[in-house]
Amino acid sequence: MSGIVIIGTGLAGYTLARELRKLDKDTPLTLVTADDGAFYSKPMLSNAFASNKDPEALISQGAEAMAGQLDARILTRRRVASMDTTARQVRLEDGETLAYDRLVLAVGAEPIRLSYEGDGAEAVLSVNSREDYARFREAIEGVDRVAVIGPGLIGCEFANDLRGSGREVDVIGPDTAPLGRLVPEAVGRALQKGLEAVGIRFHLETVVERIDRAGSGLRLTLSNGETVEAGTILSAVGLRPDTRLAGDAGLEVNRGIVVDRTLATSAEDVYALGDCAEVSGLVLPYVMPIMHGARALAKTLAGEATEVSYPAMPVVVKTPAHPVVVNPPSPGADGEWQIDSVGEGVRALFRNGDQLGGFVLTGAEAVKEKQALARHVPAVL
Ligand SMILES: Cc1cc2nc3c(=O)[nH]c(=O)nc-3n(C[C@H](O)[C@H](O)[C@H](O)COP(=O)(O)OP(=O)(O)OC[C@H]3O[C@@H](n4cnc5c(N)ncnc54)[C@H](O)[C@@H]3O)c2cc1C
Repeated sequence: MSGIVIIGTGLAGYTLARELRKLDKDTPLTLVTADDGAFYSKPMLSNAFASNKDPEALISQGAEAMAGQLDARILTRRRVASMDTTARQVRLEDGETLAYDRLVLAVGAEPIRLSYEGDGAEAVLSVNSREDYARFREAIEGVDRVAVIGPGLIGCEFANDLRGSGREVDVIGPDTAPLGRLVPEAVGRALQKGLEAVGIRFHLETVVERIDRAGSGLRLTLSNGETVEAGTILSAVGLRPDTRLAGDAGLEVNRGIVVDRTLATSAEDVYALGDCAEVSGLVLPYVMPIMHGARALAKTLAGEATEVSYPAMPVVVKTPAHPVVVNPPSPGADGEWQIDSVGEGVRALFRNGDQLGGFVLTGAEAVKEKQALARHVPAVL
């Protein structure tokens, strides 16, 4: 018996392995990962300065300890180059093959990289893993001015965190307000005000055109003619599900790897979970969908085919200068936003008649209503 192979040791791969071991202690289990296999909480990457954690301190357990705990074989620093769903095997970059009875793709997402003119363009960093974070920490050593490209959720979190470390922070993006597509504009403005109050500068409705080396630092030239000086540049312009392995192997991919509610891909006995997956049309790159997905998929792998259900899953934006909770309405849902001030923040309710379809809360006072409101929002799936 070849057993179960999981590609990826992020939150998706490891949470699934844990849930599976609660139900099935015997099936051989192999996890393979391109990184060092350390278990860490990725959401902490964008508030690690505030909590004064260096990259090592973010690790809760190393790969060896995880292998012991999960009674699994964990292959680290081994990248899967291709998969063959007919022969039921994956091929690693070094040529070794791993046979599987069931395969789970938990390969995550890739940061979107924009290209810029200028001789400083290659200095742009993005942070989507602990190892990226280590590189970023090194790059900002001794730097007192950081430019963040992308005023979305992750860009705002990093901006708040970096500002908390005493650095000057400029945030740049084409949107009219932070959190662009995720929330109504008035909500984004409330967050912007909160972040500006702690000294973060926003350059909105403009994009970076050039990045040039200037002295020991970098100069960003924006499409509105402004220039921004920075020692280091962090790009946070979004993530794209990693569909390369699945696409190359002929599996159905769309925005993510297409799976049904049992998280099954278009290939027999191949499943996908986490940031790489598009579940019933939804790409939700957050922790809670992984938790619900891992529990359902563990049951399926243990022999009881189980569909995933998603309750309302509010996302907490980690911007302590102005806290935000987002529970977006389902895509295409009918309704209208109704926005009120609460303290220094806002309460935005997406309503269709009496039905609450989603909400966004900002500011210390408004976010207290999260639990109460979440109970009234319909399940996502
Ligand atoms: C800065 C930041 C802050 C965040 N904050 C929050 C938050 O507050 N709340 C929230 O809900 N969500 C948050 N998220 C999102 C959340 O962290 C992700 O949804 C989650 O961590 C994704 O887990 P994953 O296992 O799907 O992917 P990843 O963690 O990306 O894991 C992918 C794994 O696949 C491996 N891999 C990929 N390709 C291959 C290959 N070819 N061969 C072998 N191995 C491969 C990688 O090595 C890695 O082990 C945040 C994300 C970021 C970047």
